[in-house]
Amino acid sequence: MLFNTRSIIDSCVGILYPKRCVGCEKVLLKIEKEAGICRACSKKIKIVGPISCMKCGSPIVDEAEEFCINCKKTSHYFDQNKAVFRYESPIKESMYRFKYSNRRCYAKTYARHAYKIYGSWIRENSIEAIIPVPMYTPKEKRRGYNQAAVFAKELGKLASLQVLEDLIQRDKETEAMKALNRLKRKKNLLNAFTLNENVVQFRKVLIVDDIYTTGTTLNSVAKVLKHGGAAHVYGLCISIGEAK
Ligand SMILES: [Zn+2]
Ligand SMILES: [Zn+2]
Repeated sequence: MLFNTRSIIDSCVGILYPKRCVGCEKVLLKIEKEAGICRACSKKIKIVGPISCMKCGSPIVDEAEEFCINCKKTSHYFDQNKAVFRYESPIKESMYRFKYSNRRCYAKTYARHAYKIYGSWIRENSIEAIIPVPMYTPKEKRRGYNQAAVFAKELGKLASLQVLEDLIQRDKETEAMKALNRLKRKKNLLNAFTLNENVVQFRKVLIVDDIYTTGTTLNSVAKVLKHGGAAHVYGLCISIGEAK
């Protein structure tokens, strides 16, 4: 056969839905397609890089410091977290569209960059499975998807790791907690997740999420996993802000 059916379908899809930049939505040029980011946005988007907190992965200003201000005074259930991009424009807007405007297709680009930067870190830590931070079920039904799970699946394909979407359940709606003060909110979120199985079958797992803000979400999921028997719990987020 002269033509491969799959490639014909792919090129038709490409004409109907051309691949767009995750930063600005511009239709990508052929040479930009692999990165998924246009040339202009590549100049603006900031990768977190190696000068980051050894614990939570947030960028730090002083190169000589190993940990950020937050991690110096707080202990975490997770072993280490890494993040790909700094939560600044145009990634900030990109994350918003990924989450609220059905841009599930961005996950491929995010995962490709995440794997390129942290693929060896995933292997070095002998991660056995990926766990996306779950959404509260009624909320996921309204939105139609859990962005962390969409990202987890793409990363799982690249890293050849299984994705455990149903291992953990979220019992509380985070938005409903907005009225609570920071301390109460933290306390509340620490008990927002439950394990759907008695024991975690894996010793080393990776939790993935879209944004790392205070670390409370990641920490709460890590707590449940460690209590369930996981020996090492790591985190990988698409974006992260400066340590607060
Ligand atoms: Zn762009
Ligand atoms: Zn830190």
